[in-house]
Amino acid sequence: MTPSEVWQAALDETMALAKQASRNGRTINVSPEVAALLESVGARTTTEPVGMAAEDSADEQGDPRTADLKALADTVRACQKCGLCETRTQTVFSDGSPYARLVFVGEAPGGDEDRQGVPFVGRAGQLLTDIIVKGMKMNRSDVYICNVLKCRPPENRNPTPAEVEQCEPYLIRQLELIQPKVICALGLYAAQSLLKTTDTVGRLRGKWHTYHGIPLRVTYHPAYLLRNPEDKAKTWADVQEVMKVLDGSVTL
Ligand code: SF4
Repeated sequence: MTPSEVWQAALDETMALAKQASRNGRTINVSPEVAALLESVGARTTTEPVGMAAEDSADEQGDPRTADLKALADTVRACQKCGLCETRTQTVFSDGSPYARLVFVGEAPGGDEDRQGVPFVGRAGQLLTDIIVKGMKMNRSDVYICNVLKCRPPENRNPTPAEVEQCEPYLIRQLELIQPKVICALGLYAAQSLLKTTDTVGRLRGKWHTYHGIPLRVTYHPAYLLRNPEDKAKTWADVQEVMKVLDGSVTL
C-alpha cells in the first residue's frame, strides 16, 4: 500500500469506530490532530480533558460485549445441534445494537431472512421497522432483533419443542450479554417458547411477564398484523407500555 492508502485505511477505520461508538451512545478519545482530520471529513468532535473516559476508552477498544456476541454468532453459524442445519441457507443471528435497552424476539427466520441472514426483513420486517421508527420514535439500529430459532424451519412450519430446547441456550446467552431493560415477544410461538406456556397471544398480552429476570411484554407478530390490520391498535397499546418502562415513567 502507498502511504496515502495506509493513511486512508486508518482514517476509515477510525471513522467506523466513531460511528459504532456514536450508535452505542459513547465516545472515543483521539488527539487534537486526529480530531481536526476527522472534522475535515464531516465527523462531530468535542473537547474533553485527556483521560476523562480512560475506562470507557479501554472498554471501547476491546468492546468485549460485541466480541462475545460475534463469537456466539460464529458458534451458531457452525451449529448442527438440530436437523434445521441441513435445510438452512444460513443461520440468522441478530440485527441491531449490542447495547440495546429493548430486544424484540420472534419465532424463527422465514424465507427472506434465510436468504439474507438478517431477522425481520421482507414485508413483516418493514412493518416491525415502522413500529420502531414511527410508533416508538427510535431507530431500528437502537434496538436488538433476534429469534428463538436461528435457522429456518422448512416451509415456515412451526418450531418443534425439541428444536426450541436445542436452540434456546443461544438466545439466553444473547440476552445475558445484552442485558436489555425490556424484551418484547413477537407472536404466538415466541411468546409460548419464552414463557413455556400454551396460552394464546390474546391471553398473554396486556400484562407483564419475566424471562430470566427481564420484564417481557407480548404482542402480535408483524406477519399476523399484515393479515389482521384491525389488531394494529392493540400492538400500539403494547409498545406504549414498553416505552413507559424504557423512559422510566413506569417502574416494574
Ligand atoms: S436451529 Fe439452532 S440448534 Fe438448530 S441447527 Fe440452527 S442454530 Fe443449531
